[in-house]
This record gives sequence, C-alpha cells and structure tokens, in this order.
Amino acid sequence: AISVKDLRKCFGDHEVLKGISLEAHKGDVISILGSSGSGKSTMLRCINLLETPDSGEVRVDGELIRMKRGRDGHQMPADIRQVERIRANLAMVFQSFNLWSHMTVLENLVAAPTHVLKRPRAECLEQAEALLKRVGIWERRNYYPPHMSGGQQQRAAIARALAMNPKVMLFDEPTSALDPELVGEVLRVMRSLAEEGRTMLVVTHEMGFARDVSSKVMFLHKGEVDSVGEPKEMFARPPTPQFKQFIANFN
Ligand code: ATP
Ligand code: MG
Repeated sequence: AISVKDLRKCFGDHEVLKGISLEAHKGDVISILGSSGSGKSTMLRCINLLETPDSGEVRVDGELIRMKRGRDGHQMPADIRQVERIRANLAMVFQSFNLWSHMTVLENLVAAPTHVLKRPRAECLEQAEALLKRVGIWERRNYYPPHMSGGQQQRAAIARALAMNPKVMLFDEPTSALDPELVGEVLRVMRSLAEEGRTMLVVTHEMGFARDVSSKVMFLHKGEVDSVGEPKEMFARPPTPQFKQFIANFN
C-alpha cells in the first residue's frame, strides 16, 4: 500500500532523513520507534507530503508521487491534484488531536466526506454516528471538542480519519499527549483497527502496542533505519546495540 525508497530530507544543513526505505503492504501495522529527533515525524510528513522530500520515491498503492524542481532548486510535487487525491487516502492522526474546535464532534466527522468526497450528507451522518458508536463516544456527538477529555478527543479524531475511508492510516504519537489513565481507551481502538486488517504506520512510544499489536517494528536512529523486524523477535533479541539501548530506557 505504501512504498518509500531512499527518502532524504534536510532542514538547512541538518540532514534529518538519510535515505529511508519502507514497504507497507495491505494489512501491515508498522510501529515506528526512535528517540526524539530521529526523524519519525518528518518521515510520516514526507509520506503524506506535509513536507516535500529532497529526494527519494513515495508510492501509494503503486502510484508514484511525481516531483519537479522548483525555481529555488528544491523539489516540490509536480501535480497538486495528484497530491490532494492521494492525501485523501492517507489519514493522519496527530498527537494534538487537531479536531475543529468550533464544530461539534458529529460535524467534525461529516465535514471532509461531504466537502472533499462530495458524498450525500445523510449518508455521511449515518456513517459518522456508526463510527462514533464504534469508538465509544456516540453520547458525545453534539459536544464541542474542548468540552471532552483528551481520550475522547483522540477517539473522535480517529473516527474522523475513518470517515474518509482511508487506504492507510498514519499515526504520530497518538497517545503521547494523554493522561496515563486515558491511553488505554485510545490503544483499544487502534488495536481493533489493526485486527480488522487496516494498514497503519504508527509512530509510538507504547512498547506494548509495538510488541503485541504491530506486524513489524522499524527503529529509526539519527535519520536512518537502524533495524526492522518481527516485533516479538526484535524485543526478545534486539538486533543492534542502539535498539537494545533504546528499549532498555523503557523498562
Ligand atoms: P520526536 O520524538 O521528538 O517527535 P521525531 O523523531 O519525530 O522526534 P522529527 O520531528 O522528525 O523527529 O525531527 C527530526 C529533526 O529535524 C529534529 O532535529 C528537528 O529539530 C528537525 N526538524 C523537524 N522539522 C523541522 C523544520 N520544519 N525545520 C527545521 N528543523 C526541523
Ligand atoms: Mg515526532
């Protein structure tokens, strides 16, 4: 579903991604681990083109995102309509919820499918209610996000992502901003998505999720893929000193 080849990205003279490659097939759940500053967010942002990679390939469902050189010599997407179409298939869930605070939860879920996908409002409402039931916050459908707990807001953000029926879901530390007692309710929703075969790239510091739920673990270290592997195997026998050190810090 996603294929990334030799992705590179600099900010000024700081090389943040030094040639990252990644393959995610349909149904894969890849946990992306790494210390702060290792390039995890930048990698996700390059995949959905919130950042433009300096070089390298990104393919979504086999379709290459076409790039061109801008006047300043930097790369940029060649076709903004292609980017919009592809981005509609890549849902991103952020650490900071990112719901629209002036809209009710229900309106948050209905907005994109009606405006971007031009689907009938009645159908979108029906789907939105079903999704809110699924993540356990249907009773909150008429609330404004600031009046809900962080865990409820994040579940709403996941439901909003699902409302676009994305091919791939990208998560950037979805539980890092939550009080510890609210982490479980969000992880449960993510686990259920994994179990129904959704393709997910998950940047996380939740080692339990990485080990028990994901199908693959990828460890980034200083902008490079340090190691990739089957989760239980990776945790039982860390393949590199860097990864061993990294997980030791969580015990
Ligand atoms: P964290 O765990 O703290 O979220 P991360 O692995 O997601 O870290 P990134 O956010 O990808 O790391 O950042 C990697 C490096 O790139 C950092 O040194 C960061 O300061 C730098 N960086 C990220 N975005 C920008 C930007 N827009 N401009 C300049 N430098 C940036
Ligand atoms: Mg980050």
